[in-house]
Amino acid sequence: MGQPEGLERFDSQGKGRGLRATRHFALGELLFTCPAYSYVLTVNERGNHCEYCFTRKEGLSKCGKCKQAFYCNVECQKGDWLMHKLECSSMCSYGEKWSPSETVRITARLLAKQKTQTERSASERFLSVKEFESHLDKLDNEKKELIQNDIAALHHFYSKNLHYSDNATLEFVFAQVNCNGFTIEDEELSHLGSAIFPDVALMNHSCCPNVIVTYKGTTAEVRAVQKINPGEEVFTSYIDLLYPTEDRQDRLLDSYFFTCDCKECATKQKDPAKLEIRKLSDPPSSQSVRDMIKYARNVVEEFRRAKHYKTPSELLEICELSLDKMGSVFEESNVYMLHMMYQAMGICLYTQDWEGALKYGEKIIKPYSKHYPPYSLNVASMWLKLGRLYMGLERKTIGIKSLKKAIAIMEIAHGADHHYIAEVKKELEQ
Ligand SMILES: [Zn+2]
Ligand SMILES: [Zn+2]
Ligand SMILES: [Zn+2]
Repeated sequence: MGQPEGLERFDSQGKGRGLRATRHFALGELLFTCPAYSYVLTVNERGNHCEYCFTRKEGLSKCGKCKQAFYCNVECQKGDWLMHKLECSSMCSYGEKWSPSETVRITARLLAKQKTQTERSASERFLSVKEFESHLDKLDNEKKELIQNDIAALHHFYSKNLHYSDNATLEFVFAQVNCNGFTIEDEELSHLGSAIFPDVALMNHSCCPNVIVTYKGTTAEVRAVQKINPGEEVFTSYIDLLYPTEDRQDRLLDSYFFTCDCKECATKQKDPAKLEIRKLSDPPSSQSVRDMIKYARNVVEEFRRAKHYKTPSELLEICELSLDKMGSVFEESNVYMLHMMYQAMGICLYTQDWEGALKYGEKIIKPYSKHYPPYSLNVASMWLKLGRLYMGLERKTIGIKSLKKAIAIMEIAHGADHHYIAEVKKELEQ
């Protein structure tokens, strides 16, 4: 099995292995694709997408046994059986109590796949699953405990259908999944599932990435969002790039165990705009700015946890209260303001409060375009959400303008022939 042309694996100074271009790649050019080694559709999207090929359509047919998995047709159902059988009967016997986390689900599938896949797969042309880093030596007790909980859940829900390795091996595999796993999102960045893409995992991180990863079904596609010259390393971003340098570095260290030394991390050029303070005749003291940033970080974390148990109206209240409080010191373009507005918009979309969602979206889009890199899925998806809201509210002129903004980014990031773009173009004609 040949490797994609124009790319090679190499030892990147200070970063371990990485991927490097051996020829020129133009803006928007496809570098390579990688079929998922293993993957799982998220529970919330059951019935909307085929479990096997991730196609989104109405009228999928369900597994006659568990009535939980949905497929395009018999071919997709047959294709999925080797993986679905890990869960089908277990879901029947546990009923409502069947509740493994998505990490446990993807790991169960990875373990099952490794049993049947003995040769190097088409997903492992540069890097094999066996070679994944685990960073086990760097895990603190809290992280180790979470892994032990996952192992317990694996034993609990998958015992009939999986033959396990010993605890040490399982701990290693869960640690590998934690730092090499991907999530698959749709064009509006809604979570569709989790997957293992070994070749994609070879790429190192930069906060000014030169490629973006998008998905076509369960295949990852990697395209250039900056031109790449021969000899240059290929960088993707592991994290949301909205946040200021300190936040990004915390996140990278906590989840991936390294410190980024990209241009943006070195110069912190975008930080002042990301942390914009209100221009008042009586400006806030530097202490009150520091206190407000501390408050903002706490409320981001508090909200993340509250999402699991609070009602939409309670959550919206947290957003509004925190925006009120932060608004006394922060400009509306400040990323912590944007973060809470984005959460508020999500709640409005969920409760079908279209006007409310639009109100937040309109405030978000301009600063978003400034804070994110020129080609960003976050910006494209925001234009798309806005465009779809306008079109739904019969505001066609501005709706079309917004959808075209989304398409302009997606043509580079997703490739001009992606089915998501065809769908948006259809919406333009209506
Ligand atoms: Zn299908
Ligand atoms: Zn089933
Ligand atoms: Zn960086």
